[in-house]
Amino acid sequence: MSIPLVNLKRQYAEIQEPVRRAIDRVLDNQAFIQGPVVAEFTEAYRVALGARHVIGCSNGTAAIEIALRAYGIGAGDEVITVSHTFFATVEAILNVNAVPVYVDVDPDTYNLNPAMLEAAITPRTRAVIPVHLYGMPCDMDAIRSIAARHSLVVIEDAAQAHLAKYKGRIVGSDSDVATFSFYPGKNLGAYGDSGAIVCRDDALAERMKRLCDHGRSGKYTHDMVGSNHRMDALQAAVLTTKLPYLERWNDRRKEVAKRYQAALEPRGFRSQSAPEGGESSYHLFVVQVANRDETLARLNGNGIGAGIHYPVPVHRQKAVESLVPASLDLPVTDALARRIISLPICGSISDDEVDQVCKFFLSVAKPPND
Ligand SMILES: *Cc1c(COP(=O)(O)O)cnc(C)c1O
Repeated sequence: MSIPLVNLKRQYAEIQEPVRRAIDRVLDNQAFIQGPVVAEFTEAYRVALGARHVIGCSNGTAAIEIALRAYGIGAGDEVITVSHTFFATVEAILNVNAVPVYVDVDPDTYNLNPAMLEAAITPRTRAVIPVHLYGMPCDMDAIRSIAARHSLVVIEDAAQAHLAKYKGRIVGSDSDVATFSFYPGKNLGAYGDSGAIVCRDDALAERMKRLCDHGRSGKYTHDMVGSNHRMDALQAAVLTTKLPYLERWNDRRKEVAKRYQAALEPRGFRSQSAPEGGESSYHLFVVQVANRDETLARLNGNGIGAGIHYPVPVHRQKAVESLVPASLDLPVTDALARRIISLPICGSISDDEVDQVCKFFLSVAKPPND
């Protein structure tokens, strides 16, 4: 058996010709940084989301950093987020010299638990970064109302949530700021690193654009100190070509998730549930397993590309653990890290492959008994 977690080779076979034509056009023009190809992609993505501004940038980590900087968040400021996320969410906070403050996740949605948010707010709190993990939107109504009460900035880490929906609206369309990654394995993936920042406010958009491009207002005029976090044209060409397929690929992911649920739930396996009004983009399909390590080893040994997202919570990573208060207790985060397993899902996996994964999984995995 050979069923990868994400079958990018099969996806490439589907789009090879248009992708190569798009890349060829960039090579013919020899304009690699920003320019019309990048403008074409950011406009197409803006329309697809129904957002006001989309700024192309170098990757999803930079996108979060730029958003924090654009709001002037830095030394001494606290930013609330989750530990159950990819390391980059917290790395971005640390890279602007702010202090990450962790709250636990909800045991059903696996996302920031709004009931824990208020208790984490101090006079130094400036922002909250909810992460729409695995493509599942956070309970944004609850998060936004608490944030508004305390005048906090909300930056949504939507790196895994391309075209996910919350209460009928596409994630990012009504966000103050949302950040996206186009890392190759994401639902919309470039052929290298790439990202985008989405926002509503015109002045904020202008600041973020400049922060991505040396603080430039003209070719050699610099009104602020930014950095180089621009999107490149080859990535934009790939992304523009892939974007029209995204909805169909996401629809297929939804079907696959349903097929997994139908096979695994009757046998006692729980997967991520949606908050009211949440529609996941199913970047990952994650279930909880009592004998997780054994199950993972057996799946991998049998050619099934299962994984763990993420095996070590951020607050337990060596790079940051010395900065974590000794009293920090995130029982749901810790329990998930012990039990979760991600099963193969993508826009090009077949029903037969999903059924093979289910059959093998059910022959090994034991459901948690609580
Ligand atoms: C992928 C990812 C990022 C970082 O994106 P890059 O483009 O790899 O820098 C940030 N947050 C989450 C939740 C991610 O999944």
